[in-house]
Amino acid sequence: MCSDYTIAGASTTAIHGGLSPDPQTGALVQPLVQSTTFVNEAVGVSKGYAYSRVSNPTVSALEAQLGALEGALPAVCFGTGLAAETALFLSLLKAGDHVVLGDAIYGGTVRLVEQVLSGLGIQGAFVDSSDPENVRKALRPNTKLIFIESPANPTMKLTDVEAVAKIGKAAGVKVAVDNTFLTPVIQRPLDLGVDVCVYSTTKHIEGHSTAVGGSVVSRDAELLERVRFIRKCTGGIQAAFQAWLTVRGVKTLPLRLKQHSANALAVAKALRANPHVARVNYPGLDDFPQRELAERQHLGGLHGGLLSFEVVGGADAAVKVLNSAKLCSLVEHLGSVETLLTHPVTMTHADVPREHRLKVGITDGLIRVSVGIEDAPDIIADLEHAIALAHEVPAKPKASAGCCGGGACAKPEVEVAV
Ligand code: PLP
Repeated sequence: MCSDYTIAGASTTAIHGGLSPDPQTGALVQPLVQSTTFVNEAVGVSKGYAYSRVSNPTVSALEAQLGALEGALPAVCFGTGLAAETALFLSLLKAGDHVVLGDAIYGGTVRLVEQVLSGLGIQGAFVDSSDPENVRKALRPNTKLIFIESPANPTMKLTDVEAVAKIGKAAGVKVAVDNTFLTPVIQRPLDLGVDVCVYSTTKHIEGHSTAVGGSVVSRDAELLERVRFIRKCTGGIQAAFQAWLTVRGVKTLPLRLKQHSANALAVAKALRANPHVARVNYPGLDDFPQRELAERQHLGGLHGGLLSFEVVGGADAAVKVLNSAKLCSLVEHLGSVETLLTHPVTMTHADVPREHRLKVGITDGLIRVSVGIEDAPDIIADLEHAIALAHEVPAKPKASAGCCGGGACAKPEVEVAV
């Protein structure tokens, strides 16, 4: 791999960084190496690969590409984002250790900490990291890691990454950022002083909903060696085909994120103007509460494809909107070329207790939108139509209409498990 590629702009780096034509065949695109094992030329002599649980040439191509994209060492790639997080936690934490986390992070991370790591004697403390002082106050002598996500999922609340990195450095505690939402194209936590980034590459990085994966990216060789060792021991490496698809996805990442961001801003403005929408959370809006931080922390005037909004009418109205949208799909996913809708209280955050959800702003009527790269007017038209249907005053059933006068034939209300 040509890891010494001179970095130019983000698109040039995404297409060429860390990658070079196959030296054996001249293939411009990195080959897919599906082999589980690799032949030794003699005892103790190999071409650097032994067995695909430990490393694989196609996975290495993705690792070099992701490292180059972030001005870092080659990444360590995993079968999923949560496998990457698990390996990172196991690399840095042991029984008796303490980790401070942002309180509005991905629900799967909360579940991992509260229901798996706690059983191994690792304690997690969740704090509102939008005020970095809360992170500093939560540190204990046994704190070994600070783990934050910015923007938070799904409220879009930001954390000042540079300020938290300084707190970690001063205390000798490693700082990790889940940078899945913005990717290194829009936010570069390593440049802001953090030690390590973690990604669900399943999202924007692959970008087409065809490959699950995760990565750990850092400039700290010792930390990465430990993560690689944990991966070998626990077997979480990404499959070659998923890595190959992800290499292809990364090449258009900067291009896609520009379009995701432009579309998200247009959608956010349209939703803000809608009388049936109580609140829109998008860092690109001029009335976003942390606007100054968004402008300072996000690159290129871009703020990504994720936003959330509160529909008037609570859970019932939100469910109607979600059931009425046609172009936008209702899924537990984000960061793909298609526009994707999620109802956090019944989907991604269903496991999070309601009081905790309400405390961090995840209300029953909140809808998360991962704005795709379709034409913005089409996305807006679909959402506006769905919102209008949710607020339509139902026509009074006529006594003589239909087989049962509109009673038994009427569509049942959907129950919401909040
Ligand atoms: N981090 C964030 C911000 C996510 O949204 C997700 C998944 O939705 C993950 C991590 C976990 O990634 P994966 O689903 O690839 O395990």
